[in-house]
Amino acid sequence: MIQLAYLLAATQGSILGEERQTRFQGFSHDARQLLPDEMFVAVRGERGDGHDYIFDAIERGATGLLIEEQRLRELSADKLERLNQITTVVVDDTRQALQAYAHDILQRWQPTIIAVAGGVGKTSTKEAIASILARNYATFRSWKNYNDLLGIPLSLGRLEPHHEYAVLELGCDHPGELQDLCNLIKPQIGVLTNITPVQLQYFGTQARLAEEFGELLYSLPPDGVFWLNDTDERILTLVEDYQRGEHTTRIQPLGLATIDAGKVHVGWEGLAFNIPGDEEADTPITLASRLIGRHHVATMLIAYRVARDCGMSREEVIEAIEHLEPLQGRLLPLAGIYESRLLDDTHNASPASALAGLHTLNELLPEGGKRIAILGEMLNLGIYQDEAYQHVGKLAAQCTDYLILRGESTAMIAEAARRAGMKSEQIELVSTHEDAAQIARQILGREGEAGRNVVLIKGSEATRMERVSERLMAKPEEAQELLIRQTLGWKQIIVLQTERPTWVEIDLSAIGNNVRRIREIVGPQVRILISLKADAYGHGAMKVARTVLHNGASMLGVATLSEAESLRDAGIDAPILIFGYIPYWQMREAVQLGVTLTLYSNESAQALSRAAQALRKSVHVHIKVDTGMGRLGIRSERQEEILALVREARNLEGLVVEGIYTHFASADASDKTYARTQLTRFQQILEALEREGLRPKVVHAANSAATLSLPEAHFDMVRPGIAIYGLDPSEEVRVPEGFRPALSFKTQIAQVKLVPAGECISYGCTYITKQATRVAVLPVGYADGFRRAPRNWETVLVHGQEAPIIGRVCMDQCMIDVSAIPQVRMGDEVVLIGKQGEVQLTAEEVARRLGTINYEVVAEILARVPRVD
Ligand SMILES: *Cc1c(COP(=O)(O)O)cnc(C)c1O
Repeated sequence: MIQLAYLLAATQGSILGEERQTRFQGFSHDARQLLPDEMFVAVRGERGDGHDYIFDAIERGATGLLIEEQRLRELSADKLERLNQITTVVVDDTRQALQAYAHDILQRWQPTIIAVAGGVGKTSTKEAIASILARNYATFRSWKNYNDLLGIPLSLGRLEPHHEYAVLELGCDHPGELQDLCNLIKPQIGVLTNITPVQLQYFGTQARLAEEFGELLYSLPPDGVFWLNDTDERILTLVEDYQRGEHTTRIQPLGLATIDAGKVHVGWEGLAFNIPGDEEADTPITLASRLIGRHHVATMLIAYRVARDCGMSREEVIEAIEHLEPLQGRLLPLAGIYESRLLDDTHNASPASALAGLHTLNELLPEGGKRIAILGEMLNLGIYQDEAYQHVGKLAAQCTDYLILRGESTAMIAEAARRAGMKSEQIELVSTHEDAAQIARQILGREGEAGRNVVLIKGSEATRMERVSERLMAKPEEAQELLIRQTLGWKQIIVLQTERPTWVEIDLSAIGNNVRRIREIVGPQVRILISLKADAYGHGAMKVARTVLHNGASMLGVATLSEAESLRDAGIDAPILIFGYIPYWQMREAVQLGVTLTLYSNESAQALSRAAQALRKSVHVHIKVDTGMGRLGIRSERQEEILALVREARNLEGLVVEGIYTHFASADASDKTYARTQLTRFQQILEALEREGLRPKVVHAANSAATLSLPEAHFDMVRPGIAIYGLDPSEEVRVPEGFRPALSFKTQIAQVKLVPAGECISYGCTYITKQATRVAVLPVGYADGFRRAPRNWETVLVHGQEAPIIGRVCMDQCMIDVSAIPQVRMGDEVVLIGKQGEVQLTAEEVARRLGTINYEVVAEILARVPRVD
């Protein structure tokens, strides 16, 4: 509860208009999730400003507002009038005001403050301590994982004067944060769960992280208590150093080291173990809870010790511990499809929690079942990622029967698992949540005994692995209630961690969908090769490759050897056809990589055969016929030459003639006359080969346009490219209903400013402002593939409206006019290709403006622009 008088006193804020209400239930900074009778706090963040949502908050029932003075001045008179209808507190800086309030209210009401920090297990520990204390004392706890300088003060809005204890979780994801938090809340009791590597990218070394965690200990008062995890070497060292100083804070060992690991009972119903008796009775004490997994021994023991120390009796605490249950997203058991059991551990992932998850999966497996782990990426580990992935891969080889890995970097886990003895058939790498779930579904459908298979699902927060859990739940309608991040706010948030504020978003599920649509069009018999040249038309070849292979494609096509090489390096072992020319000196490497080559001359056939023999391997080839494109291939009128090449190649040692193909010049025109001419020429060649019994197994001709609009060209295999990205082959041949574009190109506003009339914008002063103009600068330029000349993009989307580009586009930046769009601010999203609200700027429309085709627009977005999915 917030009392207005205290808030004003602590923040030195002023009231706008009248005091209409003097008490509020709590604070909220998210207008979408605000509850009636809460005070809305407008907070400025990196990706948005709460002041833009003030009126949404009022509509949702906010009875108070905490806002910044500066933004007030920008409001019109009628808006100000609306603010007068509720209690509005005005301060200089809302974040600082919240902190001042938190500090003040804790001093005023004086609850005993228990601070929980550490590498992993903070939230479970905080919840356990608070749940137990709450049985005897009025106990406040910080919400969920609101554990930073914004979150803790926000949650303290619900502190009540009668609370005796406040159990607060302290986060620590950058140096100095823990110290600031301790200064703010002044804890009396400190719990450091452990010092395991998390967020190392912000700390660099583990030593630096340990030092940071030490801040909790040093912040405790002389009559405080610090609970010592006596199995964590780093904490023991920390405490030794501390005790060399003149400190009186009581250090209490938890006694974790005295627990016999062999006697801990770990089961689906929960966890139980004995601890030695205490001064009241010297017989061992049994602690049992419904928590899942051995790592919760520490959680339970901490809760036991803290609660006892706070004065609860042994029986009371034992009783209370029995009621502890798993939290959402933290090894929560769920009923899965095919009577499987899921262990949903999707709240986040650090190396320690990933290892704990794998151990638990292994330990809980009923006899006759299979263990499946579905792991997403572990982020924020900096240079420790490699090492962490090695450990996880190695343990996965011991603790799982199937390993499904999602995300590019997890290839390293696969590698480590293979080295530790796992077979390739047991490991699948995927790019989308859907594909991960689909593979698990197949395994569950065919393997293990009913009711005995177990699936662990885990990954860092940003990987949103709860979406996999949802797809595997026996009752997905319960997802809302049982899984984490199901609130409206989360559903809308895309967690971005790109290295640049200009990025490409790839919707891989759209690509999966588009490949399945192609399958419907060509029927079950025809194979599908997907054209992945130019980094999958700018979409990112690796992820696209995995997605298309899991959705019905069986072969990949690229332009160059280096493109094939990067796919092989990423562990993709599907057949790859190289469409282009390979010089002789690259042939050995091509054979080595096991790729399929395009052949159109006798000499290359011989060179390739020599390369294959030298390596004692064989290599697949497809013969290329030029039926009228005028590009690579033997001209179709030279039938004898083609036949001779096929004959020769079949006889050469090390060559396997697997296919023959041609390429259309204008299958994308609605007039198919020329395409049919090419088709007839190709068919004549095929007939001649047939007569001599030389027809290769795989005949193919159709690009996207022909796949969609010339069924007689499907033969044994089709080779679509553009359509699987959801883009139209041309204005005349469009992708049918049901295909979805996969790529969005976005940036953020870097600066907004008012430029007076008559001033120059950008190089060459080709643009002079006609009147005072609000100009926004964008961090994107022609070196990102955002074309400068002879024509540029013309407009981009801001706040769901078109804003014109003004002046020349520079190498890395450009300017737009946002005079007509109110409230544009630094950090706002700008869409260059894609949807924003109801409006859309398609690659096709951009291509029309640039005077080119959509293929070029997307393929030209350069590699320095990060791709996210
Ligand atoms: C690029 C290419 C394709 C795919 O063409 P789309 O028009 O993108 O479908 C197919 N075959 C060959 C030989 C190609 O070079």
